[in-house]
Amino acid sequence: MTFSEAETKMRFLFALRSNGVVNQRVLSAMESVDRSEFVQGIFSDRAHEDLPLPIDCGQTISQPSIVGLMTQALQVEARDRVLEIGTGSGYQAAILSKLARRVYSVERHRRLVKVARELYHKLDITNVTVFLGDGSLGLSEQAPFDRIIVTAAAEDPPSPLLSQLKVGGTMVIPVGRSNLYQDLIRVRKTEDGMEYDELRTVRFVPLLEGIGGNG
Ligand code: SAH
Repeated sequence: MTFSEAETKMRFLFALRSNGVVNQRVLSAMESVDRSEFVQGIFSDRAHEDLPLPIDCGQTISQPSIVGLMTQALQVEARDRVLEIGTGSGYQAAILSKLARRVYSVERHRRLVKVARELYHKLDITNVTVFLGDGSLGLSEQAPFDRIIVTAAAEDPPSPLLSQLKVGGTMVIPVGRSNLYQDLIRVRKTEDGMEYDELRTVRFVPLLEGIGGNG
């Protein structure tokens, strides 16, 4: 590693820590995945800044500190099977792959599915499976899940996702009616029902129904 690579890495980790990502397992997972692999073209040299960046199909790769905070809130354990809705660039699922046993990720744009699959192959990440589909329906053939993370904003947590969560499981999802800002919430499924807590304000692209028309 050159001096400037080491410095870039240090700044990246510092930005995560100063934004509240303090869990050591999460920080190590994020240190081990090079975000520049998930950002194409002119934006790739900004991949180590704490910024959301544009990706294909008019979508965005989330800001690293938000990825970190959501991952931390999910409290993933090594034996967990995790469902992600909204593969996008594939970055969030790559982080989860370092923490969980298996990750299933659903994306509605065919092109993003293809690019993410190719990246996992290239990076030798073998415990993530990407599916083309409408993630608001969940992934019933692989349910139930220990953890569910939704990286697009819904008005309310979709009921198929709540039912595909194990008792004792946790889901993290941005919810709200506004296109501009949403509340990131954590849902815990207990024997007696759902417990909700609000984590912070976030900004995500909307969770849309159906499969994307433009690839
Ligand atoms: N987790 C991503 C960022 C996601 S951006 C990353 O790490 O880069 C949100 C993604 O959710 C977009 O790619 C969008 O196409 C996808 N999306 C929106 N609605 C969806 C739905 N109903 N099912 C599956 N994916 C959806």
